[in-house]
Amino acid sequence: MNVYDSARMADVLAPMGYAPVDAPDDADMVILNTCHIREKAAEKVYSELGRIRQIRERRAALGRQTVIAVAGCVAQAEGEEMRVRAPFVDIVLGPQTYHRLPEMVARAARAGDRSPSGVVVATDFPVEAKFDELPEASAPQGPTAFLTVQEGCDKFCTFCVVPYTRGAEFSRPARQIIAEAKRLVAQGSLEITLLGQNVNAYRGASADGSTWGLAELIRALADIPGLARIRYTTSHPRDMDDALIAAHREIPALMPFLHLPVQSGSDRILAAMNRGHGTVEYLALVERLRRAQPALALSSDFIVGFPGETDADFAATLDLVRKVNYAQAFSFKYSPRPGTPATLAEDQVPEEAKDERLQALQALLREQQLGFNRGTVGRTIPVLLERPGREPGQLLGRSPWLQPVHLEAPAAAMGRIVAVGVRAATATSLSGRLAAPVMEDAAA
Ligand code: SAH
Ligand code: SF4
Repeated sequence: MNVYDSARMADVLAPMGYAPVDAPDDADMVILNTCHIREKAAEKVYSELGRIRQIRERRAALGRQTVIAVAGCVAQAEGEEMRVRAPFVDIVLGPQTYHRLPEMVARAARAGDRSPSGVVVATDFPVEAKFDELPEASAPQGPTAFLTVQEGCDKFCTFCVVPYTRGAEFSRPARQIIAEAKRLVAQGSLEITLLGQNVNAYRGASADGSTWGLAELIRALADIPGLARIRYTTSHPRDMDDALIAAHREIPALMPFLHLPVQSGSDRILAAMNRGHGTVEYLALVERLRRAQPALALSSDFIVGFPGETDADFAATLDLVRKVNYAQAFSFKYSPRPGTPATLAEDQVPEEAKDERLQALQALLREQQLGFNRGTVGRTIPVLLERPGREPGQLLGRSPWLQPVHLEAPAAAMGRIVAVGVRAATATSLSGRLAAPVMEDAAA
């Protein structure tokens, strides 16, 4: 979502004459778009700011001004406090205010020799205003694009800062989303990933005044000519309704890959996390999804070392992983976040136990991922070529299951879906050969 937000910030600033550059070293403005989900991510912001401050000093000696802004969830959470820890920052803006960047930049640039009190701090929550005021014109995102359809979260898992930094659940109106999707396709995107902190909690107004769930939105998007692939992330197991499961059976453009985080395989820990479901419900859901779409591959997030997690709880997580057999997954050590209930729990798990569990879990997940990838060797699969590869003459694409695929292909094939014979697999990627020559005029 931060990638999408950063692209939209660039869109908002384009009319002021700003254009993105590759490195901050000689930039007139630097925006750090930040993540607050775990402590490590949040701490990086301050070390990065130290580096950017040096850039500003170097440029100031040459008589050039550098505007420094901190955006995203660290800005939202720290707000005024950022003035104390990093008084040289000009603008502190939360994720719901970036449509107002031009006005903030103008103010900061005017202040020039500003004192710390001149810092612009914008951390209010008018999500609706943001999406209504964003410009329609956007820079092309390439063969595969992101599109935010939903933001915020009302679930309040006891470990998570998202409800505090991104605010309450909000769904964009369907018409706005469809219009944005059509623009993306017209600009050359073949694949769109619908984004939301709880994307399958989407409940958006449709043109006829009814409320659409995510399944109805996906159905409407699947009708856009030229949109070959639709994905969505991240889903909560509790919001996975019958209509969305049916969509996986019925809509060919909906890719057979689903990120469905479970966090833990222990019912006791799931309850303490306030996830609102147990392992029985999760496994039953996986079963129904696989019946609806036998090709479906699953991914998840896991947290190890949540307060009170015992060896037996962790063993239950390994057990659930073995039952599901994931194609891919992310796993993290529990990180106490300010203001969340779990931070206050007394039975925090020692760091060494967290490390051990993370290693054991990641070893199992890697094994499953390798097994899944090897399962595609020898098959011919459709691959969307999205960027240049590692070696000259190579392109990198994605399979329907989101596996990176390396292959030799003419540069003209970029942005197309081609048939690839898969030759080899590692835990993280596939390599293969074009199954048929790419025709120069076959773009359509
Ligand atoms: N809405 C999604 C997750 C969004 S946050 C869901 O409910 O599944 C992305 C991931 O970060 C989470 O799935 C979780 O695994 C991880 N995460 C969130 N808070 C964390 C914390 N305090 N410590 C460690 N990992 C955390
Ligand atoms: Fe955080 Fe996801 Fe739980 Fe919401 S549902 S509080 S975003 S982990």
